[in-house]
Amino acid sequence: MAISFQLIFPPESWREQIPALVRGGAFGVAHLVRNFYQDARELVITHLQPRATTLRGRDFGPLDDLLLLRCQPRVEGRDAERSLVAFAPSPSQLVAMLVLGYGAATGQWVGAVRGEGNVYPLSGFTFVGPKMGRVTSSQSREALDALVRWDRTRGALGEAVWRRVRNSRVAVVGAGRNGSAAALSLAMLGVSKLALVDGDREEHHNLDATIGGTAEGVGRPKVENRRRTLTAIRPDDLEIVTVPRSLPDATAVEALRGVDLIITCVDRDVARLAAARAANRWAKLHLDVGTGVFRDGAARRMGGDVRLLLPGEACVACLGGLRHVEEARAELEGPVGALRRGPRAQWDTSRAGSLVTLNQAVVNLGIQTWLELLAGVLTASCWLRLEWDGTGRPSLATGGAPLAACVVCRGGVTSLSRRPL
Ligand SMILES: [Zn+2]
Repeated sequence: MAISFQLIFPPESWREQIPALVRGGAFGVAHLVRNFYQDARELVITHLQPRATTLRGRDFGPLDDLLLLRCQPRVEGRDAERSLVAFAPSPSQLVAMLVLGYGAATGQWVGAVRGEGNVYPLSGFTFVGPKMGRVTSSQSREALDALVRWDRTRGALGEAVWRRVRNSRVAVVGAGRNGSAAALSLAMLGVSKLALVDGDREEHHNLDATIGGTAEGVGRPKVENRRRTLTAIRPDDLEIVTVPRSLPDATAVEALRGVDLIITCVDRDVARLAAARAANRWAKLHLDVGTGVFRDGAARRMGGDVRLLLPGEACVACLGGLRHVEEARAELEGPVGALRRGPRAQWDTSRAGSLVTLNQAVVNLGIQTWLELLAGVLTASCWLRLEWDGTGRPSLATGGAPLAACVVCRGGVTSLSRRPL
């Protein structure tokens, strides 16, 4: 497989910085954070700023990874390579050049990347956020049977949104009750890839609400059982990666690199926080789902929270918060195998039970929220709470705004990238 270079634009870069460059009619330079996995080379844009066109490679550090972005009224085939030659990168620099057309040339682009002594074509770029705009140099051809299979889904979502779903790669962290429901809905919607992350094995008491759970699967890794169910539904065109490890294990974190959306369906705050850090480091969407059933005397209270979080904008630590954020942070930063500090979360132990109807309602509320973001109807991070009180009627509330400051999601992508996950 050929090496494929992709540029990843977090929300602030395309919402504010690119429009400013186009208005100024000029040239910008950004620093890049590398997210390399297998044959994929994702380059995450940070601090895109207008700069003088006379700058050359020697004006930057020898180990700097840079994006050069030029907005032009006309775009021609070799413009990116020519500009790279003119910039004269140092041998140890990795430099990407993107030429974007404006005016009559809006929608046209060319790109190239120079690194390790070679020049590579730029395969495409992604604007992370509403509509998840993905631009590739060769759009893959859609098989006819896929179009027939998802005819009704395409009718409901519209062709453009369905294609965004179809191109999506999603990690589901937690393969139990909520995670199994999330993975099933994503497979039914037609996503191209699912990474299933969970270090636990199936137990008898999971079978009440695990989609596709069977007595035969008890004792096997949960992720393997989920793979069997999903493969039966989508045998040909769904790539499934199973990772029998739990966050924050490094192997589990690694599985989050190659996706567009991370869904956490876990009880432990340390796993949520690890996912949030990865999402903000590599500019991924993060959807966190949590459910609970409680007894309050004779009354039953149940519900769940759904948080859809855009990188650089909000995260589980600052929108809705974590129950034990300091404990989670200490656990994440402590040595491997360190004892967990403090008592286990009360939230887990005071649960009255779990209900398959509640799980599916809340999980699918979360996935629908993601679909609204892909459609561009929803344009910002959001927090929803679905709750049944003692009267038996459900209510849906919208959560508040994120905290004013947050080191996890708004410490700047560059500063986070220096911190080991
Ligand atoms: Zn945050």
